[in-house]
Order: sequence, then structure tokens, then C-alpha cells
Amino acid sequence: MKKKIGIAMHGGAGTILKSLMSAEKEALYTSALKEAVLVGEAILLKHGLALEAVEAVVKQLEDNPLFNAGKGSVFTHEGRNEMDASIMDGKTLKAGAISGVYNVKNPITLARAVMEHTEHVFLSGGGAVNFAKEMGIPVESDDYFFVQYRYDQLQKARQADTVVLDHTSLKEIESKTDLEDKKFGTVGAVALDVYGNVAAATSTGGMTNKKHGRIGDSPIIGAGTYANNNTCAISCTGHGEFFMRAVVAYDISCLMEYKGLSLKAACDLVVHDKLVKIGGEGGLIAIDALGNIEMPYNTEGMYRACKRNDDDLVIGIY
Ligand code: ASP
Repeated sequence: MKKKIGIAMHGGAGTILKSLMSAEKEALYTSALKEAVLVGEAILLKHGLALEAVEAVVKQLEDNPLFNAGKGSVFTHEGRNEMDASIMDGKTLKAGAISGVYNVKNPITLARAVMEHTEHVFLSGGGAVNFAKEMGIPVESDDYFFVQYRYDQLQKARQADTVVLDHTSLKEIESKTDLEDKKFGTVGAVALDVYGNVAAATSTGGMTNKKHGRIGDSPIIGAGTYANNNTCAISCTGHGEFFMRAVVAYDISCLMEYKGLSLKAACDLVVHDKLVKIGGEGGLIAIDALGNIEMPYNTEGMYRACKRNDDDLVIGIY
């Protein structure tokens, strides 16, 4: 029997309205999603590991300025790009995470290096950047990360004196800035390989105008990212503070492991009930060891794509 494989990815959730999307922009996003998911699928078809596939997909999205990760990362209040990322291997339950790193071209590769080449799980700031250099992981100048659109977002958020999450919950700024500015752009991937392993990866620039070294859910194992071969792999996007409080990724895994819920039932409960009750906007992508894929969100839209076995490629935005 042919072994099952599957890959799913997101490019952020939020106020993504068809009425505000130009045909050109939609085409750009659609082709970026398609290319990324095919990169992951190609690895899985060659019997590569789920871990390799999720890193490659996230890397590809980090290099694309359309998304709030790597090159397209949003600006902090001080006008810097500080990035968070994490990765987890469902086979070994090993994980690696980094937060507040700057100049590192592909934060997800650094997170994987933390997992594979240190005795730690989570490195932050300057220490993590020094570790990247020691490992020969590419660093880029500040100019590489400068994206005019992101810089304009920062100026607007500063004027409004608001911390702009890259998603919909900031109703306060609605009157002061474009809906255009309220898209999430965090990226993530989950995969199932031919060996039955699942893995998850998430990478983000966090939120525009963030201050005081704020860290969201994306680099936090159990909140924004989780993978366990016995249950599922999850990567989240949304209002990080709520995803941390709801321990979203691990909660879904636990609902499957301890309560015997299906992937779909667990995802629906967390995204459409538990998160909604505390006001947490966002979504996630999930895959289980049987190859079931779920991509729920409670916002207007979520950039998403998946490909499973011989099934058709699925791409969605709204
Ligand atoms: N979850 C991310 C954070 O709070 C933001 C996002 O998903 O766009 O940092």
C-alpha cells in the first residue's frame, strides 16, 4: 500500500477581505502559497522527513516579503526587525525555538539548529544571533529586511500610538489605519512523511510597533507550535497572547490523546469555541498521523494551502 504523505501551510490569518484584494495581489499570494506547498511535497515524495519538509516550506516563505517572517518581518517600535520561530519533531518530541533574533536570514533554520546542536530548546536575542554565526547560518544586513510597506505600517501604528498585531483584533486602529494593515503574515507548516512522522514549524516577525521585547505564541512550544506522532502536528497564527493563554497547539494534541477526539473535533473545539470565548482571533493548520488535514480559522481569512497523497492541491485565502 502506498504510504500516506501530507503537507499544509499558512501565511497568516486576519482581516483578509476579497473586497480589498486586488487581482494582482491575490495572484501573488496564490502563487507563493502554491510554490511553497510544492516545495514541501517534493521533499516528502522523495521520502524526505516531515521535519525537512516543514523547514523548507517555512524557509521559502521567510524569503518572500509578502509574509511577516524573515525578509518581510514587521518593525518593532524602535524600527528593528525582531523575529521568533520554532520547530518540533513529532517522532522524538525534540524542539527548538528562538525569539527576538535580528539579521538572521532564516530564523526557522536557527530554531532547527537549536534543536539539533544544543542541549537547549529556546535561545533568545543576541545569544541566539551569536549561535547562528557560530553555526554558519546566514545573516543579512538590516537593509535586507527593510520592506517599505512594513515601514509604513510602523509609522501608522506609531501615529496611532497602537501596537499593531498583524491581524484583526485591533479594532481601535480601524479608523486610523487601513484594513490592509491588519493582516497576519506569520508563516507555518505541518507535514506527515512516509515513515509516519509528523513535524511542525512556525516563524514570525511578531507584531508591528511591538515594544519591550514582546514575544508571541509562535516560538512557544505548546502554544504556537506542537508535534507528536501519537496525535498531530500544529502551527498557529493569530493574536499570540490568546494562543499562549489557551495553550492552543498542545490543547489540540491533548484533546486527541486523552479524550480521543478526532483531529477535526479537537481543532473545531479550540478554534471555534475555546479561543472565541476568550476573544482570541486567528487560526491554525493541523495534520495527524493518518494524514487528515484541518485548516480552521475564526477570522475573515487565512492564507493557507495543503496537498495530501494524490489529492488535488488546495489553496484558500478567504
Ligand atoms: N501569532 C503571532 C504573534 O502573536 C502573530 C501572527 O500570527 O501573525 O506574534
